[in-house]
Amino acid sequence: MDFVILDLEWNGTYSRRIKGFINEIIEFGAVKVSSETLTVRDTFDVFVRPQVGKKISGKISDLTNITNEDLEDGLQFMQVMSRFRKWMGDALLMTWGTSDILVLIENCRYFCGDEHIPFLKWYVDLQKYCEAHFSYDPGKQMGLSTAVELLKIDVEGMGHHRALDDSLLALECLRALYAREDLTPFIQDAAAQEFYDKIQFKTVIVCDLSHPLIKRSDMVFRCNQCGKRAHRDEKWLLKNKSYRAKFTCRHCGNRFLGRVQFKLKYDGMVVKKTVLPYEEEAKESTSDQAKDASRG
Ligand SMILES: [Zn+2]
Repeated sequence: MDFVILDLEWNGTYSRRIKGFINEIIEFGAVKVSSETLTVRDTFDVFVRPQVGKKISGKISDLTNITNEDLEDGLQFMQVMSRFRKWMGDALLMTWGTSDILVLIENCRYFCGDEHIPFLKWYVDLQKYCEAHFSYDPGKQMGLSTAVELLKIDVEGMGHHRALDDSLLALECLRALYAREDLTPFIQDAAAQEFYDKIQFKTVIVCDLSHPLIKRSDMVFRCNQCGKRAHRDEKWLLKNKSYRAKFTCRHCGNRFLGRVQFKLKYDGMVVKKTVLPYEEEAKESTSDQAKDASRG
């Protein structure tokens, strides 16, 4: 099996048909490599002639150096899709982060009336794979340039921000880390509807303590010094989308601030509990007051 690393460029534009914005794909860039050695077999680089936004924005043009003239010579989205599908064959698809997949879904829905990506069978999110290697903070997302820096990849002579360039940069990241066995858990079956449900699921921060997935034990805090159950001194206060309250440990006298946040993800509720020093809150609220004051 080969791997294909795909990177897209798109232009945000208004569509009268859907009376809303769409991220219209303007370029496909991809590299196909052998899964054994990661040597390049072929590359794919095609412009897509826009059908919704006739002109690309100055920002996108500055960022990518793609001009309106380039795009006039491009192929229509459906033509590029069918060409790419033939070129890709049965390869496993990789992208850096899920936004390229989400934009592909959006374009397939808009132009074909079907959200399924015809060439997608097996998928790996390379960003997740790299983040796992660095034990990166799961709340943050590692940009491609950050990964390139962390992996000390020599970018001399390599371009950036054009689709093919970025797919080649992502390949360098994969090369720096690749071990066949540890890629296996990252391979997703993308032919199933579940893949689409999951990738399009939007995480919600729950700010309602009566939510059925919040358990009573989620609100219990243990003393960070002796481990015994601590006593909550006040009502929960909702602040910055998390709940907080002061706690006292009746066994050792320790006092602390307990903070809990609920994120509803596709796989269920993720509860993040943090114990903060007691004085932390005082500092935080003064700086918040200062911010409020400066806002007038
Ligand atoms: Zn204690």
